Amino acid sequence: MHPWNLEDLTYGRVKQAPSFAVGVLPLGATEPHNLHLPYGTDTFQVDVIADRACGHAWERGARVLKLPAIPYGTETNQMGFPLAMNLNPSTLAKVIGDLVDSLAAHGVLRCLILNGHGGNDLKWLLRELHRATPVRLFLCDWFRVGLDVYETIFQARDDHAGEMETSMGLAHFPEKVALAEADAGAVKSTRFEAVNRGWVQITRPWHLLTTNSGAGDPRAATAAKGEEYTRIASERIGRFLVELAASPLDAAFPF
Ligand SMILES: [Zn+2]
Repeated sequence: MHPWNLEDLTYGRVKQAPSFAVGVLPLGATEPHNLHLPYGTDTFQVDVIADRACGHAWERGARVLKLPAIPYGTETNQMGFPLAMNLNPSTLAKVIGDLVDSLAAHGVLRCLILNGHGGNDLKWLLRELHRATPVRLFLCDWFRVGLDVYETIFQARDDHAGEMETSMGLAHFPEKVALAEADAGAVKSTRFEAVNRGWVQITRPWHLLTTNSGAGDPRAATAAKGEEYTRIASERIGRFLVELAASPLDAAFPF
């Protein structure tokens, strides 16, 4: 039972201490992750990071509230794989918008959207909600939080189900990982140099890009690497939450 975790709280406890300064909304996904990680990988990972970050903040006196993770994300480019479960970007935006409205109604006026799935593209939603809600919104892809130290932990960059995500799995849900079954996570280039260089963007059809949905070699993964990246990411996010919780919502916010 964690006092920052809404799923754990009773109404009795909420009645005693109803005010929270920051809501943290984790976003996951339901999709294949190579042959060896579970469909819930993105949700399991973001839930751990959110929980650790909120715990870090709570220990430093910040009244943060971890909301239940949304277990679905945008999968329009993964639908060539069986049982990828899609919420279109506009649907996901409606869900998040309704939850932000709920926070506003309950007086929680700061919110960190903690994203755990690369297919969720939400900066536009912050722009759209900016004048529509009193809630001050922040967006974080947890997997980018430690990119500056990434090479000190991992051998190769992870796009999907590679060394980093597999290390997270080994650290936090090892009973659900079948690393011996993984393929090497090789990806193809498109026929367009501009796309391959990145100055023209597309949404990549994942079943054509990859062999078994993995993009990145998972075979150097270890639990210790996953635990180290978790510690760095959750402490950094936790420190931000402490600052955000203590920050007055004055006219100059966030400056
Ligand atoms: Zn993932």
